[in-house]
Amino acid sequence: MKIQKTLARVLCGFCAAAMLLTGCQSSSSTAASQAGSASGEVQQVATGSAKGIEGDVVVEVTADSTRIYSIEVIEQNETEGIGSVAVEKIPGMIVESQSLLVDGIAGCTVTSDAIKNAVRSALEAMGIDAAPFDVEPTAGGDAERTDETLECDVVVVGAGGAGLTAAAQAAENGASVIILEKMPIVGGNSLKATGGMNAAGTEYQAALGITDSGVAEFIEDTMNGGHQINDLDLVTTMAENSAEAVDWLASIGAPLPKVEATGGTVHKYLHEPEDGSAVGSYLVDKLSKQVEKMGVQLFLETEATEILMENGAAAGVLAQSADTNYTIHAKAVVLATGGFGANYDMMTQYNESLAGAVTTNHAGATGDGITMGVAVGADTVDMEQIQLHPTVYQETGLLVSESVRSMGGILVNSSGKRFCNDLATRDAVSAAELEQEGSYAYIIFDQRVVDDLASTKKYIQNGLTVQADTYEGLAEAMGLTGDAVSNFVSTMETWNASVAAGVDEEFGRNNGMDEDLSTAPYYAIKIAPGIHHTMGGLKINTEAQVISTEGEAIPGLYAAGETTGGVHGGNRIGGNAVCDFVVFGRIAGVNASDYAAG
Ligand code: ADP
Repeated sequence: MKIQKTLARVLCGFCAAAMLLTGCQSSSSTAASQAGSASGEVQQVATGSAKGIEGDVVVEVTADSTRIYSIEVIEQNETEGIGSVAVEKIPGMIVESQSLLVDGIAGCTVTSDAIKNAVRSALEAMGIDAAPFDVEPTAGGDAERTDETLECDVVVVGAGGAGLTAAAQAAENGASVIILEKMPIVGGNSLKATGGMNAAGTEYQAALGITDSGVAEFIEDTMNGGHQINDLDLVTTMAENSAEAVDWLASIGAPLPKVEATGGTVHKYLHEPEDGSAVGSYLVDKLSKQVEKMGVQLFLETEATEILMENGAAAGVLAQSADTNYTIHAKAVVLATGGFGANYDMMTQYNESLAGAVTTNHAGATGDGITMGVAVGADTVDMEQIQLHPTVYQETGLLVSESVRSMGGILVNSSGKRFCNDLATRDAVSAAELEQEGSYAYIIFDQRVVDDLASTKKYIQNGLTVQADTYEGLAEAMGLTGDAVSNFVSTMETWNASVAAGVDEEFGRNNGMDEDLSTAPYYAIKIAPGIHHTMGGLKINTEAQVISTEGEAIPGLYAAGETTGGVHGGNRIGGNAVCDFVVFGRIAGVNASDYAAG
């Protein structure tokens, strides 16, 4: 979901007064003379733009050489929830502090920077030197934190997919629940999930006549995808509870009735929203509403720092917001802090080569639950298993959905040729891409895919794509030259023939081949691998209890989602992160609330 046009007008006191006295109004034209200002100078108005995470962010600025009077974000297309927090806050922070060096909003740094850069370009358009605004913002008062003590049955740390699910489920089970989220918004990495949720044996599959994609196949594909190092008990629990999890989602108003194949599987168990919208924002929205409905107390911008232990059992957490130190006594604790794909220190402990890699992760994916769990004796598994996703737009770290390939998209290299089974497991496709000249590739799709997949419309709108009405034209738009152009044309013709025959003789692809790529216009996005999912984490059992280094369940301590390890083994297949967080989030919520009830 995106906001097409948001007005986030922020006026400083001076400008508000000037507007009242003189009718000072901003306009979207470039530099225009305005009323006299407090400095005696003529205020000017200009627009400026800069690249955000999903296209240009355009601002309208009223300023003179001494002061920025107002900033209005007049056009942006950032992710709702993530980017909108920056759109709401950054203009006001700049105007208030008269500084372009204000901190970005955690989790929205690209959008924050885009707003700041757009303001700079507006100043430049007015011929105003930005130097006076390149000063450190005055501290907004380093107020002493007050202490507050709270009590509840279950405290959930992290309000991404797993935490929201656990909180909703624990509350449904009768527990009083507090959920803490360190970022200004809920959703974490889950908010960014674009594909769907894998589940087997669902009524939706039955309704579509899909009979060959049951629990056994789901377990087998997950184990094969994870190179057999997954914890089979956890995988079995996930698969066996997946259909019920889909039913539960439907019961809270989040049905997933469309069913597709996903990367790394030949079977159809990727469940998606009816309207083709991205599964992450869809579920986070519905789960948030459910959490609210169930009376869960949500604390945003509140970071848990430590697990409280009493007599060897988890008994709450310490947490901090900007103005409060919280001591939260709880009968059970659920850790749902997500992975560590934005924590380069932690990742490079296990794989030094990741130091310079682009990440698709939100800024809050720093492994806090793992650190806090380990501090109270928890064991970890598979920490070195860090997944690269093969289709990441490198400029912004935006992930191009696997669904593009599931729906028929292919990958070609700079010679215009396919180079692998485009829908093999993520690690295999990423490795194949890194072997191509320049270590990048293009993902190719057509208008049919665009018509059916909402995310592709955004890629086009946000300038990620090049497009043309012919294969030759697309090759040229991609910048291919010489033989690469004719290679590309014949790649496309061969691919369409393979789809018609139902056999990919070159690379043995056997899914996502229901329809060819013959509906003009044709599209390409240049992509390369990026850090995506940290498969390792806290060791849990099938009851979502955290296991200690002694091999015992730590009483009162539960964990779910990306903060745990074992489910995905050496490689996660697309659609399993969502299944993991819904199934184990529910198990953690039920068991934590049962434990709390004694
Ligand atoms: P999962 O899919 O496992 O739920 P997500 O990344 O979607 O993972 O969600 C994890 C959430 O936990 C994120 O919103 C993240 O900001 C939050 N989080 C991480 N560390 C902390 C912490 N120390 N305190 C509170 N929230 C945290």
